[in-house]
Formats: sequence, C-alpha cells, structure tokens
Amino acid sequence: MTLAYVGLGANLGDPRRQLRAALDEIKGLPKTRMTASSSLYRSAPLDHVDQPEFLNAVAQIDTDLAPEALLDRLREIENRHRRVRPFPGAPRTLDLDLLLYGDATIASARLTVPHPRMHERAFVLQPLLELDSTISVPGKGLANTLLSACSSQKIERID
Ligand code: ATP
Ligand code: CA
Ligand code: CA
Repeated sequence: MTLAYVGLGANLGDPRRQLRAALDEIKGLPKTRMTASSSLYRSAPLDHVDQPEFLNAVAQIDTDLAPEALLDRLREIENRHRRVRPFPGAPRTLDLDLLLYGDATIASARLTVPHPRMHERAFVLQPLLELDSTISVPGKGLANTLLSACSSQKIERID
C-alpha cells in the first residue's frame, strides 16, 4: 500500500455538497482506504479572480492502485460531477488532483507527481498540514516552510 494525498476543489454548484460527495466516492475506490480527510477550507481564486471563491480539502488514502490508475479513477469521479474544461483555470464543480503518491516522483505525459503547483498553494498546503504537520513535498521541502511563503493567499478553515 502507498500513502497518497488527493486535493479537492470546487467553486460551482454546491461546492460543500460536491466535496462531501467526492470524499465518499474516494472512500469507495477499489484497493483503497481513506485514512483521513481535512476540514473544508474557503479560498479566494488565485488566477481568473473574477470567479466564485473555492472550497478545498485534502484526503489521505492508503492505496494499491498504481498512480495512473488512481488518476483515471479520480477523473471518473470528476466526470460524475459534470466537470467541464472550457478553458484552463475555469470555474469547476469538482477538481481532484493527485498531490503526493508516497515519496514517488513521476513525470509522464498525463501525470506529474508531486503535483507541480502544490508547493505554492496555501489551499493545498494548509489542509495537508492539518493531516500531517511534518509532511514535506519531495524536491521542495517542508510543507510548513512552503506555506510561510504563501502568506498573501487568503484561506479560511470553515468547519
Ligand atoms: P492545476 O493542475 O494547475 O491544478 P487544473 O487542476 O485546473 O489545474 P486540470 O484541467 O484539472 O487542471 O488538469 C489538466 C491536466 O493535468 C490533466 O489532463 C492531467 O492529466 C494533468 N495532470 C498532471 N499531473 C496531475 C496530477 N498530479 N493530478 C491531476 N492531474 C494531473
Ligand atoms: Ca487543480
Ligand atoms: Ca485537476
């Protein structure tokens, strides 16, 4: 089994409901056990600022799915929530990113792990630190230190 982290985000429809449903769907993934999930967080959009605020969370899972198989399953969950991609960074009903997969470093056509932008995003680092306060991002350093560099980003824990 590999300890992996999935980042969840939504800012269309009913984000809280979609995140809760997605956490249940992650729990139901084959060969996978959800070991923890963070609180929900509210964050301001970083680019395309003229869009609704986001709700975010991070799930910790123990999985026997290979990384690309896990990515496929996450994409299926997004599709069930009618995720569409009209343009990069568009508002979304549900976004599921594979943040970390053990300490693996992956660079394939479809998958980059650690997620290439997670280290500069408070809405990823803060919920991740809630689950493991000593976690680091391979190649980038301690999440705690990385979060200090994101102090201009507005994020608020909501439950
Ligand atoms: P960002 O990647 O900046 O968070 P996004 O989540 O809005 O943006 P998407 O449209 O959801 O971007 O994904 C774009 C592509 O990223 C997907 O086609 C997917 O194959 C690829 N991708 C690469 N690495 C990952 C990863 N670790 N997790 C999820 N998708 C990834
Ligand atoms: Ca994303
Ligand atoms: Ca994504």
